[in-house]
Amino acid sequence: MRHFDYRNGELYAEDVPLRAIAETVGTPVYVYSTATFERHYSVFADSFEGINALVAYSVKANSNIAVLATLAKLGAGADVVSGGELARALLAGIPGQKIVFSGVGKTKDEMRAALRANIRVFNVESLAELNALNEVAVDMGRKAPIAFRVNPDVTAGGHAKISTGKKENKFGIAWPSAEAAYAHAATLPGIEIVGVDVHIGSQIDQLAPFEAAIEKVGNLISRLREAGHTIKSFDIGGGLGIPYGDNTKAPPLPAEYGSLVKKLTRDMDVEMIFEPGRMIAGNSGVLLSEVLYVKNGEDRDFLIIDAAMNDLLRPALYDAYHDIEPVKAPGPNAEEATYDVVGPVCESGDTFTKGRDMPALEAGDLVVLHSAGAYGAAQSSQYNTRPLTPEVMVKGDRFEVIRERPKIEEILKSERLPSWLNRSPRGQL
Ligand SMILES: *Cc1c(COP(=O)(O)O)cnc(C)c1O
Repeated sequence: MRHFDYRNGELYAEDVPLRAIAETVGTPVYVYSTATFERHYSVFADSFEGINALVAYSVKANSNIAVLATLAKLGAGADVVSGGELARALLAGIPGQKIVFSGVGKTKDEMRAALRANIRVFNVESLAELNALNEVAVDMGRKAPIAFRVNPDVTAGGHAKISTGKKENKFGIAWPSAEAAYAHAATLPGIEIVGVDVHIGSQIDQLAPFEAAIEKVGNLISRLREAGHTIKSFDIGGGLGIPYGDNTKAPPLPAEYGSLVKKLTRDMDVEMIFEPGRMIAGNSGVLLSEVLYVKNGEDRDFLIIDAAMNDLLRPALYDAYHDIEPVKAPGPNAEEATYDVVGPVCESGDTFTKGRDMPALEAGDLVVLHSAGAYGAAQSSQYNTRPLTPEVMVKGDRFEVIRERPKIEEILKSERLPSWLNRSPRGQL
């Protein structure tokens, strides 16, 4: 079932015509579907029915508090990578005991906040970080629950920038050092070992890397238990791929992934933790944009739209593919065209796609970039002093703004002239 689909020749988000959102909120704008978020979460969580599992949604994929609150209502936990994300998850009503804290560079302030929130587990990525966490916990008279993120050295992930489980990546404890790391952790008074953690990559479109990682970790868990450590949880990270419309091979379904995990972990006697991000959020959102100009170049035609790389960075960062569709359904005799679809930012990298065949469009037409719900708004910036893209949540026939478009004055308000350039007492021009 598609919650972004054509009805009577117009593209809708659930029961709301996207044109109505463009008219009310303006463009560019992210539009999310509540029903799609709910369906993705349920499909994922249901595939682990019968086993002890926590689904900790990876907040960095889409961190809007309305998204987090939508998932919290369904029972989701959260995987956070900063104190800011921790604050969001708590604000959205996700209890500390369902929050896991990942990331290679947690600060002591962030550790303190997480201990105060009584989070479930810190996924620790180095001995230096472990020692810092120990100090903080001892200071607070606490024991910090930890899992080491170990690096199983398996190849996974659709692009070099989203592969994380190879030994050359910055993430995790090197596989050969894992047991020594646990032995050291066991000696620290502020640390309580509770589990093992991996996250091998993102947009993984086959099961084999997961299978390899689970088998390796299963063996590690046995060895750690033989060495006397208590291992209660196995966090397998996120990374399940989604269809973007260009996949040569369809990524595995959550149910297939679920069966594999269940089969391979049956005798491990662990609570499983999952950190899906893209799988929940990716196809729950679109970026809605207006065509500003069609520019007929010497050897190609450019479709210049009002969304740009500051709104959606994925094509520039990862050569990512996004399906692009007009909001007005092309008729049976619609003219075809081939475009480079670009934004207004002054970078050649501000190109969403090159040489894409699509219906011919003209200035003022609306288009959507599909599959933009994950790593879209969350990565957006104000480069070129373009205001942060607003976000809209749809539920049935209703829609509401869940992040406002800042006014230019609001952007400028946080900037100050130094005293030597100051022309007014308030430090403004
Ligand atoms: C980014 C990330 C995730 C989520 O990855 P997806 O590919 O979006 O599922 C999960 N865990 C960690 C540690 C991450 O860094």
